[in-house]
Amino acid sequence: MLVPTPAHSALGACLSYLGPRPLPSGTLVRVPLGHRTVLGVVWNAAVDPGPAVGPALRPVQEVWHALPPLPQDWCALVDFAARYYQRSLGEVALAALPPALRALDANQLQRRLQRLPQASPAQPPASGPPLTDDQRRALDALDSAGRPVLLFGATGSGKTEVYLQACARILQDDPAAQALVLVPEINLTPQLEERFRARFGEAVVTLHSGLTPAQRLRHWLLAHLGQARVVLGTRTAVWASLPRLRLIVVDEEHDPSYKSQEGARYSARDLAVVRAHLLSAQGCRVVLGSATPSLESWYAAERGRYLRVDLPDRMGGAVRPTLRLLDLRQHPRDTLLAPALLQAIQQRVAQGEQALLLLNRRGYAPVVACGDCGWKSGCPHCSAYLVYHKAQRLLRCHHCGHAQAVPRACPGCGNVDLAPLGRGTERLQEHLHTVLANLTRADGNPVRIGRLDADTARTPQALQELLGAVHRGDIDVLVGTQMVAKGHDFRRITLVAAINPDDALFAADWRAPERLFALLLQAAGRAGRDAAFVADRRSAVELWVQTTAPHHPLFAALARHDYPGFAAQQLAERCKAGMPPFVHQALLRAEARQLDTALAWLAWAAQQTQDLPGRAQVTLYAPVPMTMVRVAGVERAQLLLESASRPALQALLAAWLPRLHAGRSLPQARGLLRWAIDVDPLGY
Ligand code: ADP
Ligand code: ZN
Ligand code: ZN
Repeated sequence: MLVPTPAHSALGACLSYLGPRPLPSGTLVRVPLGHRTVLGVVWNAAVDPGPAVGPALRPVQEVWHALPPLPQDWCALVDFAARYYQRSLGEVALAALPPALRALDANQLQRRLQRLPQASPAQPPASGPPLTDDQRRALDALDSAGRPVLLFGATGSGKTEVYLQACARILQDDPAAQALVLVPEINLTPQLEERFRARFGEAVVTLHSGLTPAQRLRHWLLAHLGQARVVLGTRTAVWASLPRLRLIVVDEEHDPSYKSQEGARYSARDLAVVRAHLLSAQGCRVVLGSATPSLESWYAAERGRYLRVDLPDRMGGAVRPTLRLLDLRQHPRDTLLAPALLQAIQQRVAQGEQALLLLNRRGYAPVVACGDCGWKSGCPHCSAYLVYHKAQRLLRCHHCGHAQAVPRACPGCGNVDLAPLGRGTERLQEHLHTVLANLTRADGNPVRIGRLDADTARTPQALQELLGAVHRGDIDVLVGTQMVAKGHDFRRITLVAAINPDDALFAADWRAPERLFALLLQAAGRAGRDAAFVADRRSAVELWVQTTAPHHPLFAALARHDYPGFAAQQLAERCKAGMPPFVHQALLRAEARQLDTALAWLAWAAQQTQDLPGRAQVTLYAPVPMTMVRVAGVERAQLLLESASRPALQALLAAWLPRLHAGRSLPQARGLLRWAIDVDPLGY
């Protein structure tokens, strides 16, 4: 029986209970654990039984006969994830179930089930447009590839239509088949959900964090009972229980949000591939789609593990934006918008077109500083600056949430002239209000400037209102963080500008260029989507980039919209430097009040690997403080492990973890707050 024992407790996650009779694996039950009753999953596979609890086995309290057992492939996926990400089975299994389910007893469950809509006879999906030859090739490849398909196509090249018709096909071929469609973010792309609903009607359910716990449970039950045929969801939906899963789609497969940053730090994209593989005998297929695939997936396709299918053109003749680079070195240091860019924006707006400005920092300014003594607004709890939010008159930490009023005078020297340094979306919006003040729209009204970031989109309603306003054309210039680059289908955008993407070019994180390229290409994809609209305009569709490094090779590839070129160059660099995807990595992270405690514990942990299997093929680096060493008063450090052999790395981790758990009471671990393994880490 799998029960949710704490990850670091001495109890195994798998405990034995007395059942009325042998129950099939995957059956949901309620069992006593200590003084509580908890949800458990029957697990008959040979797993480490853990220590016996007490002298006598305790009886199972409730068997949930009303629900079919979780499917075998679901159990196999949980088993794989627990091993691969080095977490306990119980933790992974229970975290994979909807939280509201864990709180129910059999009677409450019964009532929930009664309230579900009656299963209605399956409606045939509405038909889509006839596919282009390229799309048809992609669809057929999915049937015949016998391996994951990497669908490589620019924004607007028709990938979503391929997903829709692939779903329609499996639904038609098999009256009970189900499809799972993963997307990085649903709230930002309401059009996508609408498209799926228009095609599949009531057969679609969503699973994401924007739902209430009750809604989420309802949708989960519909999927588990086979009533929902298409599940559209974010990262956690990879765990949906789908008794007859035949197709998995991972859209925008490069998106970092597929990687969980807590608990079992799993990659939903990678688990999607594993899940399809577990179901390969049943003919389950998986397609990963992107305009800028992750280098991991790109490399897998180069080696033939995935089949790459290209969708070369944007649909309906939509125009690819031309890149315009602006050399910021030729402008004063604090330039927000170079004159040429400002002029271009003014021109678009006057013509009734829209502009999208990308600035990946929210707030007014990333730091407030004193020009006299050099004081800066540091967070008292983190190694980060407090960000100035002008409208709220607050300094806020974006890492721990600390907020305080802006000091009237410098805490260092008393100087009253504190200045915001740098730029954020709030400041850019204010600046635009000033410089576009004299301009009117084509309809004679004043220009409207919107802002889309985590501050303005605090609630789903606020977000929908804002997106609606942009769609209706009520907003002429939209300023925002990377949120604006996601899937919106804004019809009248002819200009997209990246205000200051240089941070990413010079970041310590070696994945930053890959992300920047993806972000810029995705942002560029927002422009010129409506070919008919663009056709009778005089202005060209453009992507402007303000940078101090206009000769960076990334921009040359971007100008050609050449992802393959960019990927080849990045992969060559990574191969030479021995970095992923040419090696596999894992991080051991440790947190303590004192940095030295964390570092010393990591050094001790490293020593424990000496005689472990796989050690000869694994490189251990020295423990180091994390780039952002302090968050919310906690010091963080990490130890990087690397190997060209995934099995060697896995063998070492599997043998290492029990030692680390066992060492909890040793003096080395004194003062340690937390530690965790991150397999295939995305950021440092
Ligand atoms: P992507 O997912 O790659 O961004 P979409 O599937 O959204 O591309 O396609 C872009 C646009 O082209 C959409 O408006 C879509 O409805 C339309 N479209 C896609 N495929 C076809 C087709 N075969 N015939 C006509 N229109 C299509
Ligand atoms: Zn000062
Ligand atoms: Zn902080």
